[in-house]
Amino acid sequence: MTILFDPLVHPFPDQAQPDPQTYWLAIAGTGPADDGPVTGEMDAEVAIIGGGYAGLSCALSLARDHGIRAVVLEARSSAWGCSGRNGSFARISGGRVPLARLLETYGEASARAYFDEMKQALANLKILIAEGGIDCDVQPDGVYKVAAFRAHAEGLRREAHLYNATFDYPARFVPPEALPGVHGGAEAFGALHLPDGFSLNPLKLAHGIHVLAREQGARIHANSPVTAWQTINGRHWLKTPSGTVRARHVVVATNGYTSPKLHAQLAGRVLPVHSQIIVTPPLSEAQIAASLPSGNCMFDTRSLLFYYRRLPDNRILFGGRSAISGEDAQAPRHRRYLQDALTRKFPALAGTGVDYWWGGWVAVSRNSLPFCYALPGVDNAYAAGGYAGSGVSFSIHLGTKLALMASGKPFKTGASFLTREPRRYPFPPLLRFGQWMAYRWLHAKDARQARKP
Ligand SMILES: Cc1cc2nc3c(=O)[nH]c(=O)nc-3n(C[C@H](O)[C@H](O)[C@H](O)COP(=O)(O)OP(=O)(O)OC[C@H]3O[C@@H](n4cnc5c(N)ncnc54)[C@H](O)[C@@H]3O)c2cc1C
Repeated sequence: MTILFDPLVHPFPDQAQPDPQTYWLAIAGTGPADDGPVTGEMDAEVAIIGGGYAGLSCALSLARDHGIRAVVLEARSSAWGCSGRNGSFARISGGRVPLARLLETYGEASARAYFDEMKQALANLKILIAEGGIDCDVQPDGVYKVAAFRAHAEGLRREAHLYNATFDYPARFVPPEALPGVHGGAEAFGALHLPDGFSLNPLKLAHGIHVLAREQGARIHANSPVTAWQTINGRHWLKTPSGTVRARHVVVATNGYTSPKLHAQLAGRVLPVHSQIIVTPPLSEAQIAASLPSGNCMFDTRSLLFYYRRLPDNRILFGGRSAISGEDAQAPRHRRYLQDALTRKFPALAGTGVDYWWGGWVAVSRNSLPFCYALPGVDNAYAAGGYAGSGVSFSIHLGTKLALMASGKPFKTGASFLTREPRRYPFPPLLRFGQWMAYRWLHAKDARQARKP
């Protein structure tokens, strides 16, 4: 078995890395045509490292809005990273900081500006899908944040009020007696309804952006990992196994797949955290009625949360975090961890098998918020990432901001923390041990919540 790419161990995803065998791939099939590996030497105004949503959206925006035909360098193929493997929820999100903490830490003006960026990200994604004619199996609007413990219901009620009063957003609290028909099972003590998030086939979405970007003149080079990066007289030399790209501007869109070896300035700025998903076989009508009768996206209030939804063919997709390293990620106990959590939530699904199981690296910055900034001390280089597992709409949004910056225009936002260089994690050799300790502590915290009356 191939050891999975691990950004803290391997310098880049190499060609031995298989395509993840996801449900999305089974539905979407192999991707659209690309420009193959880089061969020989090539000049570009803008080179983009990483062909996920951020890189593809940046390439599309550069060509469409700024008249620049960029070159995308992707280690494997478009959306090989998170963008082709995610849980498929597009909602008002980016990073993982609760609204109350955001207000407390950054003040009302910054928090509102950030909320507006997230709202705009989702609205623009809807426009991109509609105007670009992207067929990506969009499911109905509406996301539920579900109280996994009785003690969490009151917090969701308060959160609904905060959404309404401070962010002028029509979230509402759904009491437990109104949940049947939406969410069955044992762990639903009320929910926060967020009206305008939706789900889709994430790989089909990426394929759609890829096609639009190429139609506008961008070049997308698959199997072209950047293996070395030098800057000589203000020009960036990006080496790949079979060629070199010389570029005036470089955009880094490698997010959770960023190796510290890519560039010293990038090292240690995100923690790659593994998130995994299982997909069940199609369920019976009785099982659906007892688990997820609605087709909405759900995530729960655990510290180590689970996210889940019913797919168009009546399977359930269920995700969460448990593995720490790439080496460990394929151990069957992580699949069992998700299966056990699924049947704890929905006892009617006991004995249900798993047809698909995969995982990917999300990027968590030290403040758990995304970033989009010019690399200090490196001429004409920009990076975005740090969505903490909530980046479907926001990475596409920041792709357009990266395009702004790479075309020489400023990214102006009232959420000034977005444009700052993220702080480095201290003690790199201890990162994984720290994460392991944090998981134990979070499990203990969840267990305490479960015991509360
Ligand atoms: C299991 C899972 C579930 C998720 N669920 C959700 C969800 O439901 N909703 C949500 O909003 N978000 C979710 N996310 C997060 C979301 O998918 C990401 O935030 C988003 O896709 C990030 O896009 P990106 O373009 O920044 O990075 P990615 O899509 O990860 O792309 C980075 C690319 O960089 C490439 N790369 C790395 N190094 C090099 C190199 N040296 N040279 C060239 N290329 C390189 C990689 O091959 C990769 O394709 C989930 C993520 C995972 C893993």
